[in-house]
Amino acid sequence: MARDYYETLGVSRNAEQDEIKRAYRKLARKYHPDVNKDEGAEETFKEVSRAYEVLSEPEIRARYDRFGEAGVGGAAAAGGGGFQDFQDMGGFADIFESFFNGFSGQPGSGQGQRRRGPMRGDDLRTNLKLDFKEAVFGGEKEIRISHLQTCTTCSGSGAKPGTRPRTCSTCSGAGQVRRATRTPFGIFNQVSTCPTCNGSGEVVEDRCETCDGSGQKRVNKKLKITVPAGVENGTRLRVSGEGDAGKRNGPAGDLYVYLVVSEDDSFRRDGIDIHSDLKVSYLQAILGCELEIETVDGQVVMQVPAGTQPNTVLSLDGRGVPRLGNPVSRGKHLITVKVDIPTRVKAEERDLLTKLAELRGDVVGKGKKEGFLGGLFNG
Ligand SMILES: [Zn+2]
Ligand SMILES: [Zn+2]
Repeated sequence: MARDYYETLGVSRNAEQDEIKRAYRKLARKYHPDVNKDEGAEETFKEVSRAYEVLSEPEIRARYDRFGEAGVGGAAAAGGGGFQDFQDMGGFADIFESFFNGFSGQPGSGQGQRRRGPMRGDDLRTNLKLDFKEAVFGGEKEIRISHLQTCTTCSGSGAKPGTRPRTCSTCSGAGQVRRATRTPFGIFNQVSTCPTCNGSGEVVEDRCETCDGSGQKRVNKKLKITVPAGVENGTRLRVSGEGDAGKRNGPAGDLYVYLVVSEDDSFRRDGIDIHSDLKVSYLQAILGCELEIETVDGQVVMQVPAGTQPNTVLSLDGRGVPRLGNPVSRGKHLITVKVDIPTRVKAEERDLLTKLAELRGDVVGKGKKEGFLGGLFNG
């Protein structure tokens, strides 16, 4: 299973994007379950698709090159795109379209035949809420899921222990029935899923009591998820094999965990950079000062240089968000300096400021004695 993705697609490590796309299309056409009924074809198709998913996105591919499967996650297969992932998979939509145009009309390629073999379980999707810092630094989170597992009493057969499903007599185990209809234009053969066995080719006579013959049981489960550092709102994590169980020994589906990151009161996120505001008084802006700044790492001492202008952006390098897949590299924490101009000053301050204005030769308005600067505000 842990094959090299380049090997899976049969391309070299320095293959161009075009070459990767061509290789994927060729293999996808060959192994698509609607076309290829061979055992294992569906599994191969899955592997090929996964390889393409990783190698077709330059950013994810770069991570894979550097860290292998760990970098793109048995768990984390998400770029900055987040929720857009599905649309971004590019090649997918048009490839599927061409399959369905090309093959769906042919008799014998319908659902019936496919249902006989192993069937992969459904993928599941769930949301996981993270607070701002959890997304920055990652960590372990517990989630609760509800998925279908193979019934342990009957090992998925649906038959009571000691009994066996019988071959369906309606379709002789084929899973499909053919009906010939005579019309003025000739005889038409219609193939449809066997109504007796629903296409499985087998009929359970003595049902397993645990699962009532379905072969599966719904199970509530707690799951520990490792959230990598640097994820953001909309990042999609894939937990392999935690979707619904497959049928007839088919593989389980995957669980997709969509991350929902809450906003923070003081920090804002822009990719791997963090933004926040810093209020300083006009005197601190003029004279400069040393202040403690709140960062995601805790308090950090920062110099505000003398003569700092309003909205100046100061930068703390390496205090931003760790890069997803390469947490050693971190973004910046950018601090916008907000200069606080007081709307109310004491009489003493006012006298000093007036003297200062005279010293500088500034023309100033005459506000009320114990009122407000400029007299703009009442009350
Ligand atoms: Zn059972
Ligand atoms: Zn049948």
